[in-house]
Amino acid sequence: MPVSVLFSRYGYYITLKNMSNNLYPTTEIASAFSIPYESYFAMGKRGIIYDIDNTLVMHGAPADKRSIELFEKLRFIGFKTVLLSNNKEPRVKSFADDVGSLYVYRAGKPSVKGYEKAMKMMGTTPETTLFVGDQIFTDIWGANRAGIDTILTEPIDPREEIQIILKRRLEWFVLRSYHRKKKNCGKGPEVK
Ligand SMILES: [Mg+2]
Repeated sequence: MPVSVLFSRYGYYITLKNMSNNLYPTTEIASAFSIPYESYFAMGKRGIIYDIDNTLVMHGAPADKRSIELFEKLRFIGFKTVLLSNNKEPRVKSFADDVGSLYVYRAGKPSVKGYEKAMKMMGTTPETTLFVGDQIFTDIWGANRAGIDTILTEPIDPREEIQIILKRRLEWFVLRSYHRKKKNCGKGPEVK
């Protein structure tokens, strides 16, 4: 086999491997409402970027009482926040106005551009920023490539559109290898 073919196959393997590492969340948690935010602030985090749909409320739903209270609590702790959504401005702006947060609409996740814009708005760096979202192939993949620690939440509504159901099937494979890797590491949830 020519060296160039071997090299390109190896390169392809490396790319896949790097990609899978970028798909692993730093931490998994059942809900954005059960994250120990005070601990993250004590660890030096100052800004949090949030996905909205199925992370904070059901897809397309307006801000509810617990979301409004969560953002009040985050402000009290001292966090800056940005809502980063691929959705259109009317949906994102109305939610952001209700909870009192900065926002980026049509963020183009998993592109890193939206995450960088969000950090600029908060005046934070990848080291001092946290990302919270429910989807591996948009939310987590983008945040990891932007160098931000990620928290993967379970989707609020298990009934999802067909294209999301297909992505969830793929996510299942990623999470299976993530859990195996975590088990092999033999330590807490941080496997980066
Ligand atoms: Mg989502």
